[in-house]
Amino acid sequence: MASPKQHPDIYPDVGDRLVSAAPLEDDSSFELKLRPQRLREFIGQSKIKANLAVAIEAARSRGEALDHVLLYGPPGLGKTTLAAIVANEMEVLFQQTSGPTLQIKGDLTAILTNLRPKQVFFIDEVHRLQPALEEILYSALEDYKLDILIGQGPAARTHTMQVKPFTFVSATTRAGLLSAPLRSRFGIVLRLEFYTPEELRIIVERSAEILGVEIDAAGALEIASRSRGTPRIANRLLRRVRDYAQVRGAGRIDLPAAQAALAMLEVDRYGFDEVDRRLLLAIIEKYQGGPVGVNTLAAALAEEPDAIEEIYEPFLIQIGFLDRTPRGRVATQLAYEHFGIAPQRRQSSLF
Ligand code: ADP
Repeated sequence: MASPKQHPDIYPDVGDRLVSAAPLEDDSSFELKLRPQRLREFIGQSKIKANLAVAIEAARSRGEALDHVLLYGPPGLGKTTLAAIVANEMEVLFQQTSGPTLQIKGDLTAILTNLRPKQVFFIDEVHRLQPALEEILYSALEDYKLDILIGQGPAARTHTMQVKPFTFVSATTRAGLLSAPLRSRFGIVLRLEFYTPEELRIIVERSAEILGVEIDAAGALEIASRSRGTPRIANRLLRRVRDYAQVRGAGRIDLPAAQAALAMLEVDRYGFDEVDRRLLLAIIEKYQGGPVGVNTLAAALAEEPDAIEEIYEPFLIQIGFLDRTPRGRVATQLAYEHFGIAPQRRQSSLF
């Protein structure tokens, strides 16, 4: 099997992890097919859906653009999908770019001046937008005005242009890195949560139907519970299990087929792979359970600190294996139990 590569521009390089929440190169065409188009098809995140449904209906009945929306949370939970759904529900155009891709001021002003009334302009990974570009956005978001500098030196003049009322939708994995002025311009701020295994089971069943794969509820739940609360991983594991079921079985995914395939892929019952295990074991064995700073940990693992913060640790924190304290990361008792290691004495005060 060809080894999948991580999307290079947007996410820190985390290698070829099958259970990475960040998109891998061969995910994109597959994900497009599986992406829900409307709010009613979007599974889970009920608070977000309820908030968006009310705001969309109100904006539509007033004939106005929807307020600007900030979506934040770990990768693979459906931020891009929701941004596109907002456009579909508002029945407006959707234009997408990302913080790291947008490099030139002129490109941003060209996009802004060409926006159609009420349309959705989506920037993924907005915390990686350059400050100079962010500044251009402020007045565009505030009062749909754009200040453009014409000429150079003493002869330079500022020309103010009007842009059409539009909806700015942004996604970020790191809301804390957003500047206060940018953050204050979003009327609707929504945090995505990890999905429950039951919600992921429904997502897996829906995806299997779209892909024409036969699956039973137990097989779907097995894939779901090893997907780290993340639809992107659930869909990826489904695809690999489907391959296995086709080659080794009758093509149908049931519990034994799912278990055998996931064992072969070395995805354990938490969806941990080698990097999760190394991370927890490093804290336990090298740093006596912590606290250890993220930079020290990253160096010990030869990983990027960003990758640890954005991709690996949110799920470990969610399932209670890792604590983030002001002095650094701490392995919890659950983590010790998982590895069958007795907690050391200096840890006892932390449990
Ligand atoms: P993010 O932008 O947060 O990284 P995406 O919106 O790209 O995540 O979602 C990754 C994939 O997961 C999508 O292609 C979609 O197929 C699937 N997905 C995400 N959320 C849901 C959901 N609630 N219901 C069904 N599929 C989902």
